[in-house]
Amino acid sequence: MILRLENVVKKFGGLRAVDGVSLEVGKGEFLAVVGPNGSGKTTLLNIISGVYRPDEGRVYFEGRDVTDLPPYKRARLGMARAFQVPRPFPELSVLENVVVGAVFNGGLDLHKAREAAEEALSYVGLASKKDQLAGKLTFNELRLLELARALASNPKLLLLDEVMAGLTPTEIDRFVELLRRLSEERGISAISLVEHRMRAVVRLAHRVVVMHQGKIIAEGPPEKALNDPRVVEVYLGR
Ligand code: ADP
Repeated sequence: MILRLENVVKKFGGLRAVDGVSLEVGKGEFLAVVGPNGSGKTTLLNIISGVYRPDEGRVYFEGRDVTDLPPYKRARLGMARAFQVPRPFPELSVLENVVVGAVFNGGLDLHKAREAAEEALSYVGLASKKDQLAGKLTFNELRLLELARALASNPKLLLLDEVMAGLTPTEIDRFVELLRRLSEERGISAISLVEHRMRAVVRLAHRVVVMHQGKIIAEGPPEKALNDPRVVEVYLGR
């Protein structure tokens, strides 16, 4: 097991954005988190990465209590986050952008960072673009750059905001294929927030967690979780 959340609560004023979530993620597991807007998905990811400290509950990473660690320390332990809207340094090359990530997030020295960056770029299929300015990349390529940046820090757990939003169906298929290869070939776990309408992604996950009003209302293999009567009700009741 790589990650364990124990009864985690995060409040904003009177609102319980995450309301008593317990969750375990296995090594190499690809977990999709779905739920309507405002159901607490992003807050949950922020608790896992350390942006927020929970008001109650604990977060364990590889058995170690990381609840009080800031994001950069969690990154050094092997958590990497890829954001929905990547903000690369547009005046740096693609390679340089990934190197910067490996140095600052992964704590690698420059030589190792460069090796890791080259490897990560090959892995996501951007090797041929490595000397281009990041500002010149297409939307899809930017998403891949963001994934490469996260990978270059040699993570054990990838945290993915809605990184597939806005991609074409073919691009999404490739992206998900990439995530599955990461899990199968390297044992990297991933937690991905997924828009509910992207059923293709959800179906390919090993496990799905459905959130509603800060709570997990269903969990399990994709078809089972999505067909759970409570989940159907939440989505149809909107
Ligand atoms: P999701 O990612 O599922 O759309 P969020 O985690 O972003 O949901 O939000 C959950 C709830 O918490 C929402 O009601 C949202 O308005 C509220 N919320 C999120 N972040 C903040 C914040 N920084 N301050 C106050 N309320 C917040």
